Amino acid sequence: MVQEQHVSEVAEMNMEKWFARTAEEVVAFWQTNPVEGLNSNEVKKRLDKYGLNEMTEKETVAWWKKLLFQFQDFMVLVLLGATLISALLGEFVDAVTILAIVIINAVLGFFQEYRAEQSMQALKNLTAPTARVIRNGFVQQVPARELVPGDILALEAGDKLSADGRLTEVHDLEVEEAALTGESLPVRKFADKQYSEDIALGDRKNMVYAGTSVTRGRGRAVICATAMMTEVGHIAGMIQAAESEETPLEKRLEHLGHWLVWGCLAICLVVVFTGVLKGESLFLMCMSGISLAVAAIPEGLPAIVTVALALGVQRMIRRNAIIRKLPAVETLGCTTVICSDKTGTLTQNVMTARRIYTAGRAYDVTGAGYDIKGQFTHNNQESNVNQEAQLRQCLLIGSLCNNSVLKQNNVPITGLWRKRDTMGWSIEGDPTEGALLVAAAKAGLWRDELEKKMRRIREFPFESERRRMSVVYRQENGSQVLYVKGAPDTILDLCTKYDSGTGVKDLLPENKAEITKAHEEMTVQALRVLAVAYKPVLPSENDLSAEDWEQKLVFAGLVGMIDPPREEAREAILLCRQAGIKTVMITGDHPNTATAVAAELRMFKEDSNKALTGKELDALNDLELARIINNVTVYARVSPAHKLRIVKALKAKGHIVAMTGDGVNDAPAVKEADIGVAMGGTGTDVTKEASSMILADDNFATIVAAIEEGRGIYDNIRKFIRYLLSCNIGEVLTMFVAALLGLPLPLLPVQILWVNLVTDGLPAMALGVDSNSNDIMYRAPRNPAESVFSRGLGLKIVSRGLQIGFSTLLVFALTYFYQNDLSLARTMALCTLVFCQLFHVFDCRSEIFTIFEIGFWSNKYLLMAVLCSACMQLAIIYQPFLREVFATAPMSLFDWLMVLTVAGWTFILSGLKYLVLRRHAPVRSRFSRV
Ligand code: ATP
Repeated sequence: MVQEQHVSEVAEMNMEKWFARTAEEVVAFWQTNPVEGLNSNEVKKRLDKYGLNEMTEKETVAWWKKLLFQFQDFMVLVLLGATLISALLGEFVDAVTILAIVIINAVLGFFQEYRAEQSMQALKNLTAPTARVIRNGFVQQVPARELVPGDILALEAGDKLSADGRLTEVHDLEVEEAALTGESLPVRKFADKQYSEDIALGDRKNMVYAGTSVTRGRGRAVICATAMMTEVGHIAGMIQAAESEETPLEKRLEHLGHWLVWGCLAICLVVVFTGVLKGESLFLMCMSGISLAVAAIPEGLPAIVTVALALGVQRMIRRNAIIRKLPAVETLGCTTVICSDKTGTLTQNVMTARRIYTAGRAYDVTGAGYDIKGQFTHNNQESNVNQEAQLRQCLLIGSLCNNSVLKQNNVPITGLWRKRDTMGWSIEGDPTEGALLVAAAKAGLWRDELEKKMRRIREFPFESERRRMSVVYRQENGSQVLYVKGAPDTILDLCTKYDSGTGVKDLLPENKAEITKAHEEMTVQALRVLAVAYKPVLPSENDLSAEDWEQKLVFAGLVGMIDPPREEAREAILLCRQAGIKTVMITGDHPNTATAVAAELRMFKEDSNKALTGKELDALNDLELARIINNVTVYARVSPAHKLRIVKALKAKGHIVAMTGDGVNDAPAVKEADIGVAMGGTGTDVTKEASSMILADDNFATIVAAIEEGRGIYDNIRKFIRYLLSCNIGEVLTMFVAALLGLPLPLLPVQILWVNLVTDGLPAMALGVDSNSNDIMYRAPRNPAESVFSRGLGLKIVSRGLQIGFSTLLVFALTYFYQNDLSLARTMALCTLVFCQLFHVFDCRSEIFTIFEIGFWSNKYLLMAVLCSACMQLAIIYQPFLREVFATAPMSLFDWLMVLTVAGWTFILSGLKYLVLRRHAPVRSRFSRV
């Protein structure tokens, strides 16, 4: 019923040609308010009526189907075939046992995959799109799936649209609609235009559509279509989310897996043939061959890699790093350079105006953070703002040329609600603008009150490239003033006059020099400085562009604000240095400010003490840049386009580059970087979409934490590859050499499958979740081209495989020849093989340290897994029914002593070595960072 109603509503929505109506008509149709938006009750009603703003989801696969998929594996099918044959030949016990093992393996595999899938889904939900809407009179960030028709969207540069809307207000708004129309150039949008009903989609300049993104300006739109009713919803094929990507390592392991399958099959064939030639029954040898193939092929490898990646990604989330593209996890460990924005990432982004300069006079501003308590002093004397016209003008421009909102206890502050003496002040919007609002509030200037006497009629929003923002206000008497704020070097070039305190005068070179000197003085104190200027403008000029308007300005003053460095960033930079990773600052701020902040963060190494400005960068050709790039630590006054050049130049030098970005124009550089990092808080949707990782807390230290986790995940993957492959080599070797030497089968088919079950399952998984080693950030970055077996791992695998194989054979042969009991010899071989692996799993925890050095108890999962496997092993020897099933024989104390000595001698030796040496060489403490 609800569905039917929805369908008819939808039809109604579709018939409407919103672009042929005025904004007021559309607002009236949707019974909404362009200023206040909808209220919560209405949103709830509309959500019930129109449903969630979601594209129809892909059908999900039922869990039982996924379980059945586990049996699709070729080797499992062969094994099931073999089980059927054994049943037909009357070997019921064998058949049932093999079947049980196959089922347990499938269930284990199913849970591994299920867990990986769940983690990936949780990750997707974390990066689900959001939208800014006006509801109950406030701008709010809501999940895009909760948008409803009638909602008022507040659009800004960098936003990705999630619904279709009719524009009600625009300020220089441009939208990139390539996804919908194929037109890659941004389209200028208007709110006051109306079009004929047959106009093409690309020409509807009063509409915005889901799937497109804002490249410039600001605007508001009333939502007219959501979910499948949007234009993009009509386009089949675009609605399904992209498939998840395989990481390079997963691909390489898959490749390796193919080789291993063929290698193992060949060896199994040799085992079968030699056995048959020796007179063993064809059935027994076929079963042995198949079981050996199943045990030797590390079929669990891809699933464990996925689990290790997924669990590592979960750990990263707990440390505020959200991975968007799985391959980034691997690349993180290879990072050699981190290029980071300054403001907000290396600094706290809590700005406070500290100093104001007007022609000839400098004021200090007291107060902390966004608290509006504070004073203005000149030469340590309190100044009365009402008597200092220039100071007042600076503060007024800062307050009007501003889009941020000052809040107290999360409520926007207007009129009567101001309680000067209470705490809880915060900012919604740009902290730089917030600092200006707070400074003005300290002087009793509030934007909402000023706006009672004047009205903003135009706005040219701030852009990193222009480094300035302007607004035009119309006063009650009809006169108009343009207010501008921006980077002092940019603004000063546009000024021809200045406010001298005794009237507006021509700006002569000596005045300019004085202002520049005052500016420089502020920057070397690490202050971020903005200049403010103004100019009366005529209503007849209202159609002029920003560039035409922002000419011949009157310089009013400079405002210097502090933005303290983040404490944790300093530590993280040090950690990077130890880990062989260089940190580079890229900022739009002044070179002096940037250098001063970099010095506070101890970013400079003596030999690379260099700052380069955007202008200097432009003057260098690629060759010259390549020559000096390794020595540059700070790039200042750069625009987003420079970032792209820097990434490319670093990559050309062989670096693996992580690059942060927030603004819409940062997206190309973020995309180009090996690890594109977007800011969760201040980042735009477009940059987030281009990124491979999002920092939930916008913090530099989080990038370093993610690198540490990335290195840890790769380590863990190497750990269980080492474990699985060396164990499998041991198993194959035991059977193969026994066959070559003409010995009887050392293990029966069910026993081989049993080894596979107790050793490959839980212990290998527990290695995948091992904690990071203490030396992880004391090593140089990994070379991305290196093989997974590099740095001696291949040798370790083969030598340990040989040791496991020959130890097992030795125990088997000794028991067989000296005790003349084949059943006992097989049981002893089985125990040796299992315990060799259970001891070996501890060695795999580190390639440098012994288990005693890294802490025996430090991976509880592994201890539990090993204990569990050991108990299961005891059960098949001492539980009568299981003993029957697995054809084992009881072992004496001496037998156990022999098995454990042969299986664990390396373990025992390293324990003794640790006991003797630990007093002299506390290896672990070398790397402890507490
Ligand atoms: P980062 O790239 O490290 O985040 P940033 O914030 O200084 O540094 P941009 O945002 O590109 O970089 O700003 C460049 C310059 O533009 C600033 O140094 C400042 O002088 C000026 N500026 C910053 N924000 C505004 C604003 N809201 N209005 C006007 N001018 C601004």
